Amino acid sequence: MSYDLKGKRVYVAGHRGMVGSAIVRRLASEGCEILTATRAEVDLTRQTEVEAWMGKNRPDAVFLAAAKVGGILANDTYPADFLYDNLILEANIIHAAHKIGVEKLMFLGSSCIYPKFADQPIAEESLLTGLLEPTNEWYAIAKIAGIKLCQAYRRQHGRDFISAMPTNLYGPGDNFDLQSSHVMPALIRKAHEAKVNRLPEITVWGTGKPRREFLHVDDCADACVHLMKTYSADVHVNVGSGEDITILELTQLVAKVVGFSGGIVHDLAKPDGTPRKLMSAEKLRALGWYPRIPLEAGITNAYEAFLKGEYLERRQGDAA
Ligand code: GDP
Repeated sequence: MSYDLKGKRVYVAGHRGMVGSAIVRRLASEGCEILTATRAEVDLTRQTEVEAWMGKNRPDAVFLAAAKVGGILANDTYPADFLYDNLILEANIIHAAHKIGVEKLMFLGSSCIYPKFADQPIAEESLLTGLLEPTNEWYAIAKIAGIKLCQAYRRQHGRDFISAMPTNLYGPGDNFDLQSSHVMPALIRKAHEAKVNRLPEITVWGTGKPRREFLHVDDCADACVHLMKTYSADVHVNVGSGEDITILELTQLVAKVVGFSGGIVHDLAKPDGTPRKLMSAEKLRALGWYPRIPLEAGITNAYEAFLKGEYLERRQGDAA
């Protein structure tokens, strides 16, 4: 199938977040009209506001990149926020998109939807085959519900709603707040501050042994646009690099990019989370998409963005 974005009215929900803003940048070359809305214009957790805005602006296509996001500590500390806010905003947008007859919608989730001990690399079919990682199961349940909503509206109403599940993303627009961020921006900030302040060491949460996969957000946005144009089926698609590294190896790489040459110590009171979550990239590759930004070059780009202040120092709990 092929869905041409040219001349279409394309709504990017969550355009201030790291992923949404990357999708907006990527769409600039598609010849479409990009629609965005600030939180003052439409509160996505309010059904009447979402339906009124969608009815008035009538997008042809929607990228659903709005979400309440956060790292391992934030997820573990605010379960109600992560479950409720994500459930309600995705239900509001998907249902409103159905009501006004949106031609195509892409829902964005996360690799944490998969069982904690899923076989690696994790294939799309592993969904709902085992227990979730407890530190982020609230967020995961909401994202699984989003996938199911898309499938349900496809099945019952014939809507072309699809889902993409990105791996751990990083890049410009990331959240560098140490309490609520993910590991990559946290390490960039810690290494930078240690370098500037001539500190002897940086502290890494947990053992450093968990393995994680990382993808630059511009690669993710490119994959999302590719899927929007070429993919139509009810199975969600993993969006990843297909490679993973340990948190300790990542720390060493970030230290190299930033130019921090001190030591690394571990805070074992902090959780490790799931031991490994490398997603299978086979499905996306079979659809003709490959990542273009190698990890070290990507981290260099993210560090430059951090230095320019191109990041959102979000309060924990702010939606992306
Ligand atoms: P996760 O992928 O959902 O577990 O989320 P994170 O990106 O927050 O954490 C990934 C891994 O990095 C976990 O094992 C963390 O314990 C570890 N980690 C090490 N240092 C940090 C840090 O400073 N911040 C965060 N968020 N994670 C860290």
